[in-house]
Amino acid sequence: MPENSNNFRLSLSSLSKTINSLLNKKELNEENLIQIEQWLSFHLNKIRIRKLEDVSIVGEKETEERTKKDGVFIINTAADIILDPGFQNYHNDYTERPEKLNLADLVEESTLNEFNSAFLEALSEKKNTKAEVLLKTGINRQRECVLEFDMLASNTDNNRVIVYYSFKDLQHVHLADFQSIVLNNLPGMDVFLFDQEYRYILAGGKEKEKYNLTNSSFIGKTLFDVYTKQDQRRYFQFYNKAINGEFTEGEVRYKKDVYYIAAAPVKDIEGNTVAGILISQNVTKDKILEAKLIKSKEEAQRANKAKSIFLANMSHEIRTPLNSIIGFTDQLKKTKLDAQQQKFISLINHSSEHLLYLVNEIVFLFKLGMDKVYIEKTSFSIKELLNELADVYKKQAAEKNLEFSMTIDKALPDFVKGDPFRLRQILMNLLVNALKYTEQGRVAMSTKVSRKTKKMVDLVFEVTDTGIGIEEKDLPYIFDVFEQGNKRTEKIRGGAGLGLGICKKLVTLFKGDITVSSKKNEGSTFSVNIPLELSDAKPRKEIEKSYDLDDSLLRGKKILLADDDKHNRLLSEVVLKGWQTDFILVEDGEEALNALKKERFDLVLLDIHMPRKNGVDVVKKVRANNGLNADTPIVALTANALKADINSYLKVGFNDYVIKPFYELELYNKICNILQIENGEKQKPVTKEAIVKEPVTGDTFDVHDLEKTAAGDKQFFNSMIDNFTENAETLLAEFKGGLKNEDWKIIGERAHKAIPSFKFFKLTGIAGALSKIEDLALRDQQFDALPETVNKVSGQIEEIVKQAKAAKI
Ligand code: ADP
Repeated sequence: MPENSNNFRLSLSSLSKTINSLLNKKELNEENLIQIEQWLSFHLNKIRIRKLEDVSIVGEKETEERTKKDGVFIINTAADIILDPGFQNYHNDYTERPEKLNLADLVEESTLNEFNSAFLEALSEKKNTKAEVLLKTGINRQRECVLEFDMLASNTDNNRVIVYYSFKDLQHVHLADFQSIVLNNLPGMDVFLFDQEYRYILAGGKEKEKYNLTNSSFIGKTLFDVYTKQDQRRYFQFYNKAINGEFTEGEVRYKKDVYYIAAAPVKDIEGNTVAGILISQNVTKDKILEAKLIKSKEEAQRANKAKSIFLANMSHEIRTPLNSIIGFTDQLKKTKLDAQQQKFISLINHSSEHLLYLVNEIVFLFKLGMDKVYIEKTSFSIKELLNELADVYKKQAAEKNLEFSMTIDKALPDFVKGDPFRLRQILMNLLVNALKYTEQGRVAMSTKVSRKTKKMVDLVFEVTDTGIGIEEKDLPYIFDVFEQGNKRTEKIRGGAGLGLGICKKLVTLFKGDITVSSKKNEGSTFSVNIPLELSDAKPRKEIEKSYDLDDSLLRGKKILLADDDKHNRLLSEVVLKGWQTDFILVEDGEEALNALKKERFDLVLLDIHMPRKNGVDVVKKVRANNGLNADTPIVALTANALKADINSYLKVGFNDYVIKPFYELELYNKICNILQIENGEKQKPVTKEAIVKEPVTGDTFDVHDLEKTAAGDKQFFNSMIDNFTENAETLLAEFKGGLKNEDWKIIGERAHKAIPSFKFFKLTGIAGALSKIEDLALRDQQFDALPETVNKVSGQIEEIVKQAKAAKI
């Protein structure tokens, strides 16, 4: 018999003592009765566990005579039940004891005499007596039971009598039996209760039969008696942690199977760990399934990776010919073309730019999916970013005759830390959509501070339109990235369907969220909530000079270009020739190295992916060799737009990079900046801020484009100029009238309307100034500043009108 049964006996006798001392209390009120009841319930449960251990060791036939008690009633001397802790466990219709219930009522009539005489004898002689009765344990149900009137523990002065009851029949409905049946038949699983010496108090479960072990192979023995040394090592930690009060779980291999093990401490009412419980479940089948799943997941990941690599390569392959298409179209535009040819060129231009946009978007989406996009943390001015957006989209809205407004919360901080490029990308996507899906009415953007702490600010950006709206049933799918076979998303998306998917992923990277509310035919509101760190550092501005292609500033410069693509080489030849440079073209890295050994260059343009030696290796060699060109500026020409890769190029010694496909002017500007070419008149550095806030003035009337468009058609040429001058003069008159009447609204509206016609003649300075007037009059309502600005712009317009009239033929 397990040692612990000693403890059990002790606890039973202390139970009697405690009941006795409780009953001796003079006044037993409702509150301490409840306390006693709870206390007894707990201890009787303990007793039941001990009983299981002692007499009904699970699965084995009970032979020992049952002497242990199943429970206790406390009654008064008239046999009315006062407490019956846990009796409902044995009675199937006894959720709550009736208010007044006599113990005799629970005794079957045929055994009532037995009950009465034992009780009377106990009371009159103050001695312990027993009665064998049939106790009612449900409707039409009774069980053989021994009642013991414990007069030694009772207190008749206090009108309390303790009556223990023990059922004689174990095989009938007995909760503990049910527990034992369940415990014994657990399929695929074993369960053990063990004491602090790692000794099994209780064992159950069917799994061990597989290894010819029974419950009695465990009971009374320790972990170290049952298992081999090797297996002990596997199991020990679980047992040990459980009796030290910790829960553990894990997997153990036993013989040929795998078992999930979970072990937990068993605590007493004071919270002390008194034992441990461990379950061991055969999970071999699950493991096999899991291994299969892992394998197929790995295969899917491999396939996905292969797909991504394929896509990255393909995008590279697509960009390379695109570089030629865009570049040659650019060159073609410079030649003499008739009107129809111009139109065709412009179509090719549009289509190739659109194709480039799509390739970029797809690659970007894949990069997002591969977690290759990072949110940078730089200090930037959020107001400036919003103003830039307003400038761009106000113009686009005007072209569609839509109203556009931008409201900015006064509480917006000056500088924040984050990724301005990605934030702009999100907002641009929403603004582009709003304009795309709206034919009438307005597009409005607002920025609000929703929460501000010492370190952080939560910003809410809202883009609202009065466009076609989105059907309610489509709303839940609107941010899903287009997936093949997803009919639902396929149907919603008219375009490529990438923009909102990208937005959602980017917003998530910012740890923000994006929502939409929309009504079919009424319009939509997209709302983006983004937390940003506050910053007091003024952002560093990149000052890049801008150069004019016509100025031949690179004349005579010695340039080496290496590119393995025949068409791109041809394009470069045309471009470099056009700039009047002294250039050498080579086909791969080896050739480039040879050329660099022979003579000194002012600049090197290197493709990255080339046969024999790639661009990166060339740069490494040139920088390490300390030769003729050790510090010659080298620019990477790459179709690879991954930031991580570009950083790696800069690290090995490239000075800068240009992403293919590039525009001639872009490359020209980059080279001029790197070579720090002096720029005569246009030398004044133009910062981004300057472009936004102070539009370049000093426009001149340029008929270059009009000449091309007119393609020799004089009448058309002149009528276009007439049209322009008429509009400009009307505007001047309206400005005059507006100033006189202080009708700022008219001034703002007319300025807005005139912008496209100035833009047509590339009068960007005046167009910018008109847009400023519009802002002052309509958005900011800063009327004080208006007269001066309007007068200044009017003067410039008058000058332009003169030039335009003179340009007529
Ligand atoms: P795309 O515009 O290229 O189709 P997006 O992912 O940007 O891809 O948008 C997905 C779809 O959501 C669009 O095709 C359109 O049906 C709907 N949608 C997005 N923005 C708006 C809007 N402002 N108004 C109405 N529908 C919109």
